[in-house]
Amino acid sequence: AAMREERTKKTKTVCTFCGVGCSFEVWTKDRKILKVQPSHDAPVNAISTCVKGKFGWDFVNSKERLTTPLIRKNGEFVEASWDEALDLVASKLGSIKQEYGKGSVGFISSSKITNEENYVIQKMARQVFETNDVDNCSRYCQAPATDGLFRTVGMGGDAGTIKDIAKAGLVIIVGANPAEGHPVLATRVKRAHKLHGQKLIVSDLRKNEMAERSDLFVRPKQGTDQVWLMAVTKYMIDQGWHDADFITENVNFFEDYSKSLEKYTLEYAEKVTGISQATIINIAEMVRDADGTCILWGMGVTQNTGGSDTSAAISNLLLATGNYRRPGAGAYPLRGHNNVQGACDMGSLPGWLPGYQHITDDAARAKFEKAYGVTIDSKPGLDNIQMLKSIDEGKMKAMFLAGEDMALVDSNANHVHDVLSKLDFFVVQDIFLSRTAQYADVVLPAAPSLEKDGTFTNTERRVQRLYQVLPTLGDSKPDWWIVQEIANRLGAGWNYSHPSDIYDEMASLSPLFSGANYDVLEGWNSFLWGSNEGVSTPLLYVDGFNFPDKKARFAIADWVLPAQFEDQYDLYINNGRMLEHFHEGNMTNKSEGIQRKVPEIFVEVSPELADERGISTGSVIRLVSPYGALKLPVLVTDRVSGNELFLPMNSTKKDSAINFLTGPAVDHRTHTPAYKQTKVRMEVIQSK
Ligand code: SF4
Repeated sequence: AAMREERTKKTKTVCTFCGVGCSFEVWTKDRKILKVQPSHDAPVNAISTCVKGKFGWDFVNSKERLTTPLIRKNGEFVEASWDEALDLVASKLGSIKQEYGKGSVGFISSSKITNEENYVIQKMARQVFETNDVDNCSRYCQAPATDGLFRTVGMGGDAGTIKDIAKAGLVIIVGANPAEGHPVLATRVKRAHKLHGQKLIVSDLRKNEMAERSDLFVRPKQGTDQVWLMAVTKYMIDQGWHDADFITENVNFFEDYSKSLEKYTLEYAEKVTGISQATIINIAEMVRDADGTCILWGMGVTQNTGGSDTSAAISNLLLATGNYRRPGAGAYPLRGHNNVQGACDMGSLPGWLPGYQHITDDAARAKFEKAYGVTIDSKPGLDNIQMLKSIDEGKMKAMFLAGEDMALVDSNANHVHDVLSKLDFFVVQDIFLSRTAQYADVVLPAAPSLEKDGTFTNTERRVQRLYQVLPTLGDSKPDWWIVQEIANRLGAGWNYSHPSDIYDEMASLSPLFSGANYDVLEGWNSFLWGSNEGVSTPLLYVDGFNFPDKKARFAIADWVLPAQFEDQYDLYINNGRMLEHFHEGNMTNKSEGIQRKVPEIFVEVSPELADERGISTGSVIRLVSPYGALKLPVLVTDRVSGNELFLPMNSTKKDSAINFLTGPAVDHRTHTPAYKQTKVRMEVIQSK
């Protein structure tokens, strides 16, 4: 027994499945995962985890893992040695850059890989390829939230900690489903609501679990949240319920902002959103009466043509009511991927250097130019969406992509597939042969989080260390190692022997992270970046907002009509997460324990619509949008209402992945696809 005990290894890691950032010990024997053991020392979750964190890890031992580099020869993937694959990648990318110049090679980083890996990918883009054409999948989800916050409060992070949310008198959740998307965070809200009298308002198209529990559930018409948010703000100002002292002391442009609200009367809001005037007044009263309001939002807000303006409207409402700068108040964009916050923090963005130093900031650029020994263009590069356009137009010739299944995750998938097949040379680095990898010329086998050291940053800006739990499988390698090998073959001369070397370099160039290093982050310790550079900052803006005069700014933006469709497309199709699955499902689909629980994808149809169309649970329908079609089984449920359909977004199959229906509309400021603004018509194939 003693021998057996000895062979059991316990290693601390950070969950790879969502932005909550739970940490726990993984007990292993050789490559076998014996159990996941949370701890009171875990700063976010203590002894809680959700089903994904507890049971979602079989994928690391999946037979489908990539374990050796693959090179396409005569249309087929052939196994290759690392040297052969890396030499080919370096020489091809290098010669394409040489022949076609800057802007001919694009980089897509990942919010599933570590901070250190994101840092080196943006560094490879900027130093070796002299381009700012580097982005990550926050473009598909959270870029509008970041934009709305930068415009109003000057920083793109949660205002306080996850624990602080429990201190709010009122929580408003807009277009998010934390019970399934951020389960451990949702548990805190559920507990505060049940035990401490916290009030809860949910605005969503779908009656999700949090809506069921809420004190007030509103179902605005698709794409209209901004209007009721502005109407609530206007009504409160008109009634004198705003926080005039807070505004005078802390916020600029109040008069202009008040004027911009003129149109957003109760009547107008009712007409546009379908929410009654009495309900809007009710929301305003609840904000007035609450001792602290937190607003949490997700992709139901951001994935719309007005996603960034709606995010700004949320922040404006909080500013007008003095709901910043204290625990239990403020803006909480809910980051989806485990490291979407970190990917942005590390400068895997076309307009930002690491630590949110803007590319147009001469002093910041000069610092990086000195460190990297190259000139950095002061013009922001191309984002994901613009890179695809550039490929389509024949300007961008090659792409390096790590840990992102663009072919499934980007909207209008049929079009994305056409574009990816136009690339002269495409490198995909991943743990599985994703749908995107099927377009690659070289596939490089990477290691998942359990097989490497590094740091992740969760939704509340908390940087935490993960330790290598398992040896890498087969010939797979950590992403940072692979990137260094490519960069060095092109003369970069990097010399990182461990992710901590990378962290140190990053922190030396990014004041936001200068207060931490691997010693500070040892074990269960963590660090929250924030306004106090160098010090862990649970609460943002304690010393003022992140503008030169320390004052926040009301951002002025009118609501614009959502994407329009021909009359024949008469049904809205919404999409979102399921508790058991993670995003496009590349990892959770390969975890048997999870697959057994949710084997099939279905489309949710309201009882009224089912009646009207003569269908019931188990019927098969075909949904047709202007951009594609899917054949799906039906689940009739009152979670959806009227002509709103809902499809989980976690399918990897061509016949059920939502993005074969979504179109080209984007948020007008950030280019985040307006996934939520999709309309379809229904054909009944089998009424049952
Ligand atoms: Fe992992 Fe998120 Fe579940 Fe926590 S809540 S265990 S971070 S998936």
